[in-house]
Amino acid sequence: MSTAIRIDCPVWCCDSARHSVDDVMTSTDGRIIIGHSGPQFGPWSAGSDTDISTGKTVELSVAFDEVVLKERGYFISEPDVLRRIASEALAAAEWLEANR
Ligand SMILES: [Zn+2]
Repeated sequence: MSTAIRIDCPVWCCDSARHSVDDVMTSTDGRIIIGHSGPQFGPWSAGSDTDISTGKTVELSVAFDEVVLKERGYFISEPDVLRRIASEALAAAEWLEANR
């Protein structure tokens, strides 16, 4: 069972009520961080990390989540699917600009 911890999350964090010590990890450059999950834009997942030692949010980003794509049964060989993903990428880009 995980121990709940109190983290000051960005307002858009979808995990704010359920962060636990299991969410704490070490970044590739050795910082101790906790990840925040933001909104989904189709297969695009927004999020960021907070550096535990400084309390600062770092690396606000949007990542392509292939699992979501497969769960929806999307096949990129279909032009309409590619148009939908492009539209969702545009929405993700606008969210990223608005939250920097
Ligand atoms: Zn959070």
